[in-house]
Amino acid sequence: MAGSIHEGPEFGIGDFVLLREVTHEAFLENLRLRYEKNRIYTYIGEVVVSVNPYKTVDIYNQTYVDHYKGRELYERPPHIFALADSAYKTMKRKSRDTCIVISGESGSGKTEASKIIMRYISAVTNVSGRKEVERVKDVLIKSNVILEAFGNAKTNRNDNSSRFGKYMDINFDFKGDPIGGHINNYLLEKSRVVHQQNGERNFHAFYQLLSGAPDQKLEEMKLSRNPDEYHFIRQGGSPKCSTINDQSDYRAVMAALKTLNFAFKHAETLWKIVAAVLHMGNMEFDTVDEVHDTVGVRDGHKLKNLAGLLSVTQEDLKKALTSRVIAAGGNVVNKEFTKSEALYARDAFAKAIYDRMFSWIVSRINEVIDPKESGTGYIGKGTVIGVLDIYGFEIFQNNSFEQLCINYCNEKLQQLFIELVLKQEQEEYMKEGIAWVHVEYFNNKIICELIEQPHKGILAILDEACLNVGKVTDEMFLTAMTQKLKSDRFTCRALSPADKTLEHSRDFRIRHYAGDVSYSVVGFIDKNKDTLFQDFKRLLYNSKDELVKAMWPEGIQDITATTKRPLTAGTNFKNSIIALVDQLATKEPHYVRCVKPNDIKSPSNFDEERVKHQVMYLGLLENVRVRRAGFVYRAKYSRFLDRYKLITKNTWPNFRGNEVDGVKMIIKSQGFEKDVAYGKSKIFIQSPQTLFTLEETRDKY
Ligand code: ATP
Ligand code: MG
Repeated sequence: MAGSIHEGPEFGIGDFVLLREVTHEAFLENLRLRYEKNRIYTYIGEVVVSVNPYKTVDIYNQTYVDHYKGRELYERPPHIFALADSAYKTMKRKSRDTCIVISGESGSGKTEASKIIMRYISAVTNVSGRKEVERVKDVLIKSNVILEAFGNAKTNRNDNSSRFGKYMDINFDFKGDPIGGHINNYLLEKSRVVHQQNGERNFHAFYQLLSGAPDQKLEEMKLSRNPDEYHFIRQGGSPKCSTINDQSDYRAVMAALKTLNFAFKHAETLWKIVAAVLHMGNMEFDTVDEVHDTVGVRDGHKLKNLAGLLSVTQEDLKKALTSRVIAAGGNVVNKEFTKSEALYARDAFAKAIYDRMFSWIVSRINEVIDPKESGTGYIGKGTVIGVLDIYGFEIFQNNSFEQLCINYCNEKLQQLFIELVLKQEQEEYMKEGIAWVHVEYFNNKIICELIEQPHKGILAILDEACLNVGKVTDEMFLTAMTQKLKSDRFTCRALSPADKTLEHSRDFRIRHYAGDVSYSVVGFIDKNKDTLFQDFKRLLYNSKDELVKAMWPEGIQDITATTKRPLTAGTNFKNSIIALVDQLATKEPHYVRCVKPNDIKSPSNFDEERVKHQVMYLGLLENVRVRRAGFVYRAKYSRFLDRYKLITKNTWPNFRGNEVDGVKMIIKSQGFEKDVAYGKSKIFIQSPQTLFTLEETRDKY
């Protein structure tokens, strides 16, 4: 471990702000050099760029914790600990709420980074060793185990991919010890419950149950250990994953549920729901009336198992699976399903029940980690550090409604980033009485508006299409968009007659800040409506299992009751992202930008093209430019004097003057007068080179 950020030329440059030229080539070259030397972290000012090492790097042990604790960013080589420490110090010293926004594509290391940050915070807090604080820390860390079991899955990009967005606040008391927290979850990818692509798996929980549960429990649930027997979890054709041990993970989840004080019967119900979904996938339907095209459930045994697991009557279950009740003109009629309707309803049912269970788990964890309930005796919410681990920008071969939501979320975060970084700089310069230099940058507000604007944006047009009674097709939605959207950021391939015959004729394209993405409209209406028949809600509300019942409170409604139309999936998502951004905007932000070096999970492969693409859409080069335009470094006079006083005889070993004079003497002794500005309480340094020279000079003493 070298003493300061200056590690020697063989390790490249520790801060991209220092690059001689700000070009993609220079950026990539430096990132590659550092990656090859196991230097996985590099700064852009206060932003940490992290490259997934795909191997264990021994840089998170106690020695490292001690090395970074209480230090300033520039005093040590780049490390995520330094960022965590900076967030912690701001929170503690200034009593300011802070947040850490972690972004990057799937498999780039966001979730690992969030866990490393949590462990660091855990390691540097509670020096007095209070038992309740230790318990809170344990609970916060163990909650990850549960969330990952139910919300993560093996995908072709990542063996442990988070299939939901997560924002976690950690609350601290005035001593700076954690006293609790709160989790917000965003858009679980529930389509995975019923379908997986080749090579992928369903959520870990399914495989954990089959490999880890005791024989007796599986017998009670009428399950076999073999995942290949279940339609909902075998579609990817790869139930085994070499980096995952489902059996021991099951035990870890059980232990975590216990640590988090989940009632035993509640834990039982969660696994019963997982089992129910497995059985549901194997439910088949036979046409019983050719003329009316109606169906019956093929196998009575399966029905019995499923009814048992959900604690509902077989009769009610059968009805809900094969028909629905509709209120038409004051009359209540029973409408039997066709075979394809029955399969569609079954899948919707499975997705909804799993999704609802996941939300319940999050809300239950929130009850346990609520600062008021933590037993630390602390009243009020204290100060918080928020950690956001959310899906990065997605550009797939085939992009659908989910990608639009995810990419919209990234546009919003990018907008916040730009605003906050610039705003923060500007505010500080004003406070310190230093002239502000205007910086040109690309503002992606227009893209956010294209998607989110009330009445005019894509999501509003989609909602309008979903509101129409009668048959509305995805194509009609596409036409509505082409008529209403006037933006050079939006194009619709269907507009061009020449394209009509192409398979992409149902695509629309958005020029995102990160690049162009074509979305296929197929399924948009359905996914946005996100309907689940009231019959299923009523069925579950009438369950004898009090937890299942509690998960479906709206099932109480009578069929004839006029109910308010629930918000669409798109609007719900938009509202939650706007609320998130508003929340983040009140906090002092820190950023981790994660980069994935290759697609083959290799520790020694730096795929230049892939990395370049990410550097581009994470806006890293732009970030460097903004950063270079202003002052790269600032420090309180006292802090600066303390650190560099030994450089001149005037300030060392004896100095009794005023701090500002001392600082000026140091700067003058090195000939850096032109490179600095003196604010009210801080010195500002323009070029990083000055700082590094100071550090080098200091090292010589
Ligand atoms: P997703 O968006 O799919 O959830 P992610 O960005 O959260 O992806 P992670 O799950 O954090 O990605 O990382 C993927 C894998 O990369 C990890 O399971 C681990 O094997 C490896 N990895 C990531 N960061 C590190 C690290 N700092 N040290 C060692 N290995 C790492
Ligand atoms: Mg993740």
